[in-house]
Amino acid sequence: MSRVIEAIVPPGGWHYMQDGVRIPPERADSFDDLLKKVLQFRINNRIPVGDVFNDVQSFVCKFPNQCHGTFNGVIHNDPPQGNKPRFIDRLIQWADELRTKGVNVDDGQKRQDRINVCKGCPRAKSWDGLCPACSSHLHEVLTLIKKGRLTDITLGCEVYGFDCDTAAMVHRSILPNDTTTPPDNCWMRQV
Ligand code: SF4
Repeated sequence: MSRVIEAIVPPGGWHYMQDGVRIPPERADSFDDLLKKVLQFRINNRIPVGDVFNDVQSFVCKFPNQCHGTFNGVIHNDPPQGNKPRFIDRLIQWADELRTKGVNVDDGQKRQDRINVCKGCPRAKSWDGLCPACSSHLHEVLTLIKKGRLTDITLGCEVYGFDCDTAAMVHRSILPNDTTTPPDNCWMRQV
């Protein structure tokens, strides 16, 4: 029987997905707070209340190391490196912050030009499958940011900790300022 470890905040913060809707839109304060918010959401939307605790617990336990009794069953190819956050967690944090800002996205020629550079860059690494639950969460958040535009490009930037395709669609001014560390031909040098 798995049980949520309440001291560990899951990737993307305490949240639950109900039929494609994120509850709460940002993040709950704790597992307990999340249970209350999911219950309230179901009541407000006339959804059968059902077993909120088990539904939320099952959802949270899909993330690696979030629950007692699930560690051995999880495929996890992106282990923590000491105190450094995992690559996938950096990407999720960036995506969550970007989603909160509610940025405009542009899928014109600039997106193509930028992503073509990333595809040939040694600092671009695929994040898909590093951790199935985390990748699935990241896909959801990125699709929300990109307003439903789907893509099969799942490259993350090791330098900036962002999803390359999504970063390629947003204005340069809201991306990191540091231009000292990337390879010479990186499009991020163009401030
Ligand atoms: S360093 Fe620049 S070119 Fe390379 S993956 Fe990151 S953003 Fe793309």
